[in-house]
Amino acid sequence: MGSLLQDGFGRQIDYVRMSVTDRCDFRCVYCMAEDMTFLPRQQVLGLEELYLLAEQFVGLGVKKIRLTGGEPLVRNGIVGLCERIASLPGLRELVLTTNGSQLKHYADGLFGAGVKRLNISLDSLDAERFRSITRTGDLAQVLAGISAAQDAGFAHIKLNVVVMKGRNDDEVPALVDFAIANRLDISFIEEMPLGSISEHSRAEAFCSSAEVRGLIEQRHSLVESAESTQGPSRYWRIPGVDNTRIGFISPHSHNFCSSCNRVRLTAEGRLLLCLGNEQGLDLKAILRRYPGEPARIRDALLGAIARKPWGHDFRRNDEVQVLRFMNMTGG
Ligand code: SAM
Ligand code: SF4
Repeated sequence: MGSLLQDGFGRQIDYVRMSVTDRCDFRCVYCMAEDMTFLPRQQVLGLEELYLLAEQFVGLGVKKIRLTGGEPLVRNGIVGLCERIASLPGLRELVLTTNGSQLKHYADGLFGAGVKRLNISLDSLDAERFRSITRTGDLAQVLAGISAAQDAGFAHIKLNVVVMKGRNDDEVPALVDFAIANRLDISFIEEMPLGSISEHSRAEAFCSSAEVRGLIEQRHSLVESAESTQGPSRYWRIPGVDNTRIGFISPHSHNFCSSCNRVRLTAEGRLLLCLGNEQGLDLKAILRRYPGEPARIRDALLGAIARKPWGHDFRRNDEVQVLRFMNMTGG
């Protein structure tokens, strides 16, 4: 069955990214301010509410759900939630994005719960630099988390790297070599103007995917590939390397809106129709106003998706274009 969620441009929406918390144990410089105020708990969707919304999405034809945040592994009860969502009939895959800090403790549980794939953020292999980018992170813990995930049985783990000029662009070749040595996929992300930060100038730090490719090509040849994981990455391969794909997420230099198949749910229960737009729908309000009436949610979803805007237009300057921080949005 195709998805019943179809927008006004004929795009079928079959992928939802759900943020299960806005909280995080890191404060990555591109994602958060140093001093963050998080949502009061009653404003965040409860586990049952998250499950009910997932159930409605899947009932309408959504095939893939990604749990994200904030940091999903700081949410109490995350493994049980994964288990329930993964067993929804019709869902093809439940996947999760994490900073890896708690993965050592959760990898077995997540794998057993039916999570199919993991994306793990890793912006540097230098412990001091890793600390300065994440402000609080411990590289050794994240590396132990990656190993634990592999030991638990996860295949196709993908590393996510946000590349910033003068910060970690010199590590691009080393990160690729780390991915190859550990049989991991790796995606390089262009920084997006989500939320107001003062730690660095996003314009000065901007490093395009074409520049990152150039850095990799100093060491390896790259061949473009037609593969997709139904996300925004475009993939390249290094001839002779079978277990590592190199992805690029390029919201600035390669607009991926025409093939957009996804929407996002924030931790406070707002459905966001587009990453670069504020348009949305307050699903939490409907859930709490009409408990036990899932048809209300389904109708609201069908109506909202029909109004999904065409796309985003991130310009490359320091203007804040979307006030939400990425931890609110669900990356
Ligand atoms: N805490 C988890 C993590 O870091 O993987 C999941 C949530 S995080 C918001 C999801 C992804 O968004 C991460 O790969 C992170 O690097 C990326 N991200 C955060 N802020 C960003 C920004 N302003 N531009 C581009 N990517 C960003
Ligand atoms: Fe936390 Fe992920 Fe944002 Fe870093 S990118 S602060 S790990 S939510």
